Amino acid sequence: MPRAARVIRPRLSEAQFLRQIQAAAQLLGYHCHHHWLSIHSAPGYPDLTCVREGRLLFIEAKTATGRLTEHQAQWLEWLNHSAPGVEARVVRPQDWDTLMAWLKEGTPYV
Ligand SMILES: [Mg+2]
Repeated sequence: MPRAARVIRPRLSEAQFLRQIQAAAQLLGYHCHHHWLSIHSAPGYPDLTCVREGRLLFIEAKTATGRLTEHQAQWLEWLNHSAPGVEARVVRPQDWDTLMAWLKEGTPYV
């Protein structure tokens, strides 16, 4: 019996994935900020901050198998309980469709 062909997908690094998220968010009207270096900063603070009218999103990007640290989980919890319109999530490449739906929420032109 012939073996099924394997689909080989290149694994995204976290930095590559983060750049893809930022580009997509900017196309959807968000202004984004990413700390290039995190030295001397609070551990676990999310990778990306995206803002547009009525929404403030904090995004912790992970590789397909990356895990949250305790500090990262704590920051997401604090941010998610901070104020209306503020949302914080951990996202992975395999969750791209869900991520895009989340970013598009409230977008009138998509
Ligand atoms: Mg990260």
